[in-house]
Amino acid sequence: SPNSWEARAEAHALYGFTDLPSVRERGTVVVTHGEGPYIFDTQGRKYLDSNSGLWNMVAGFDHPGLAEAAKAQYDRFPGYHAFFGRMSDQTVALSERLIEVSPWDRGKVFYTNSGSEANDTLVKMLWFMGRAEGTPAKRKILTRGNAYHGVTAVSASMTAKPYNEVFGLPLDGFIHLTCPHYWREGMEGESEAEFTARLAAELEEVINREGADTIAGFFAEPVLGAGGVIPPPEGYFQAMQAVLRKHGIPLISDEVICGFGRTGNIWGCETYDFVPDAIISSKALTAGYFPMGAVMLGPEMADRLQAAIDPIEEFPHGFTASGHPVGCAVALKAIDVVLEEGLLEAVRAGAGRMEQGLRAIAAHPNIGELRGIGYMWALEAVREGKTPFEGDLSVSERIANTCTDHGLICRPLGQSVVLCPPFTLTDGQMDEMFEKLDAALRKVFAEIT
Ligand code: PLP
Repeated sequence: SPNSWEARAEAHALYGFTDLPSVRERGTVVVTHGEGPYIFDTQGRKYLDSNSGLWNMVAGFDHPGLAEAAKAQYDRFPGYHAFFGRMSDQTVALSERLIEVSPWDRGKVFYTNSGSEANDTLVKMLWFMGRAEGTPAKRKILTRGNAYHGVTAVSASMTAKPYNEVFGLPLDGFIHLTCPHYWREGMEGESEAEFTARLAAELEEVINREGADTIAGFFAEPVLGAGGVIPPPEGYFQAMQAVLRKHGIPLISDEVICGFGRTGNIWGCETYDFVPDAIISSKALTAGYFPMGAVMLGPEMADRLQAAIDPIEEFPHGFTASGHPVGCAVALKAIDVVLEEGLLEAVRAGAGRMEQGLRAIAAHPNIGELRGIGYMWALEAVREGKTPFEGDLSVSERIANTCTDHGLICRPLGQSVVLCPPFTLTDGQMDEMFEKLDAALRKVFAEIT
């Protein structure tokens, strides 16, 4: 009916990224509330959201402590900024806490409203430092194919996806290296170690071609998330960091997805055993209960920024809601929830069970690769070997749609179906996820093969 929530949504609201043919055909789902890992729509239908919203709702949709932390802070001091020598006590407390749980013994934190803005902010910091240091040409940014760093003009330029061509992006000076996906990008007969060595050699070639004095930084997700859950090949970050260090180029870990437990450690860089020069955080930073991003600078970067600020007495950048006291109070609580309510342990304990369950499903001949770590996994559909299916509606969309019909939300990304559930998932809920996914996969493959 024209008065339904769905019709009203379609008349007045726009989506991010959502005009998939399958969505147009199926219409909108209007969600009213959540419970644990489940969401409920206006029709009363219940879905297990194996995506944790967009990777962010790591404590599920009804954690009482997070809502209480927000309420208490709204009652005490509902909003403030971090400009002109003033900031809230919560902003101070969170910054201290973030550095305490960081890989460094000291550092500084700058707040944004999103992951995209955090990446933009750090790029502006790098440009600002370069000019102050007498190297204004140091502006180019290196990222990798299939990387996702956001949607603002700079972070979209870092996001190496063909869809950004419709905006005339990337901007000049954003260079995309090879995606570190061994299964897809490895050459015939090339070992994983040889693949890693080839990617490190490519990095060195690009630096030599462009000139180290023109490159401001290298940004990488520890596990590429929206690129289809791609863990790095063996020794990748060590090999890349050795090249970057030789040329004095900072390594930035974009931990928007990996940060706060997704890989089984607080940071993805901890899982892959490297210490970055800076960290980009968002999403699970507030367990998705408040929009917030953070740029975390390690000791060297914090010193470089301060040295650039000193002569002009400002870093002319900041958002109205940077360091919002409610966001900071929620983040402080979210960090406690992950670290002190056993969510990190839950991911560590559940990861093996998750892998085992998905491996059984991935035994299907039309699954080419199962990949992942912790609570982030992808199954890549193939016609055979590594050859994808063809057709208008990608097989991953068909699988995701069939899952939705069965009350399971999962995400189609390229040819892959992605599962990244909340860390609070019970064994029973995990089994429900496996059963629904398996049934949907079998149905779709039987229809198209
Ligand atoms: N960086 C990574 C690794 C992401 O996955 C995302 C979002 O999914 C972003 C940055 C952008 O964050 P936001 O959507 O909050 O702008």
